[in-house]
Amino acid sequence: MQTMDIFAELESNVRSYCRRWPAVFSKAKGSVLTDEAGNRYIDFFAGASSLNYGHNDDAIKVRLLEYLASDSITHGLDCHTVAKREFLTKFHKVILQPRGLSYKCQFCGPTGTNAVEAALKIARKATGRLGVFAFMGGFHGMSLGSLAATGNKMNRAGAAVPLTNVTFMPFPHGFMQAFDTIEYIETVLSDENSGIELPAAIIVETVQAEGGVVIAPVPWLQRLRDLCDRHRILLICDEIQVGCGRTGPFFSFERAGIAPDVVTLAKSLSGYGLPLALVLIKPSLDVWQPGEHTGTFRGNQLAFISATAALEYWTDSNFQAGIRKREDFLGVFLTGEIQPLDTRIGVRGVGCIWGIDLQALGQPDLAARVARRCFELGLVIECAGRGDSVIKLMPPLNIEMSLLDEGCRIIRQAVIDSLLRPPSI
Ligand code: PLP
Repeated sequence: MQTMDIFAELESNVRSYCRRWPAVFSKAKGSVLTDEAGNRYIDFFAGASSLNYGHNDDAIKVRLLEYLASDSITHGLDCHTVAKREFLTKFHKVILQPRGLSYKCQFCGPTGTNAVEAALKIARKATGRLGVFAFMGGFHGMSLGSLAATGNKMNRAGAAVPLTNVTFMPFPHGFMQAFDTIEYIETVLSDENSGIELPAAIIVETVQAEGGVVIAPVPWLQRLRDLCDRHRILLICDEIQVGCGRTGPFFSFERAGIAPDVVTLAKSLSGYGLPLALVLIKPSLDVWQPGEHTGTFRGNQLAFISATAALEYWTDSNFQAGIRKREDFLGVFLTGEIQPLDTRIGVRGVGCIWGIDLQALGQPDLAARVARRCFELGLVIECAGRGDSVIKLMPPLNIEMSLLDEGCRIIRQAVIDSLLRPPSI
């Protein structure tokens, strides 16, 4: 067997990212990945936004090494531990308190999808209602409850059972941008003939990331919060991909000055790519019975250690200023250097999540070809959105400016090459 063939031979057909990036990776530092042949790739995917502080961040790594060397507890179920206490205390002090937010922390199974499961369960339990509203284009995970709130047809097909109790509402994007979803929900809820029951919760991403970097306008989010308040519907913000600074502030909903009832966090929470997920619940909604949503891996102590170390970045105003600097760079580059390549190219973004929308060019595989060409030129980048027609840029939040520039120039070259080359080649 060739080294690359081993994966096809021994690993399930379900594998996905590795098909787009045919390399065997061995090392990573900051915003650069290296494969076993020594090839270097700039990382504009950051572990699907689970590496917001880059790979093997030194400040976090040193805390992990100290902890491992001291034979401290590594697996703790949900027992009280020193590492968990330090995380809870610091999260409260650095993140919640300064923002005037009051939440109870629920550690669930260490994946985003389990955080969404827990959020949906607590919303149903607290309200005694069954239904949930989610948004078209939204992504919330792959287990049955979260998949029911995920719009993508291919993802849903994998369930092979009915995915129920979720009603999808239009998200302000494409032709639905002109549609007033908030007004529509208002009408549906007050119309006794609408056939739609008052839901337990509305689950929303303030920026649909898998959905193709679609940014909900601030007034829309504020009206959504107001609607939920008036109808006593719980607002769940899924911060799994766009939280932890991806859009600038720690929480993406801070942009709209709103406070959700329930928040889901995972991915970059641990700061080092270690599995850790968290549900934040308004104290009055914490109606769980002990052990009602349990799981063996709710006490990943190494993740608590790295997450606590990562929170240090949120005490440093230079860190957030750095995200704004990268946001400015990306905005200027994409509008100044990419959009002019073809007037039909759309660009949009906030913080360090940006999308180059190629849908209007009418070539269904164009974005995939650009991403493939990027990889050939030394850049790891993913597509998202309907028909995978959007190139999604998600570099680490602290990427060196020279690498950000180099990565963006690779994208420009890849777009030029892909526009020039006919699809069949
Ligand atoms: N919610 C959002 C918004 C996500 O982007 C994702 C993953 O991409 C999830 C939930 C699921 O997280 P996980 O893949 O860790 O289960």
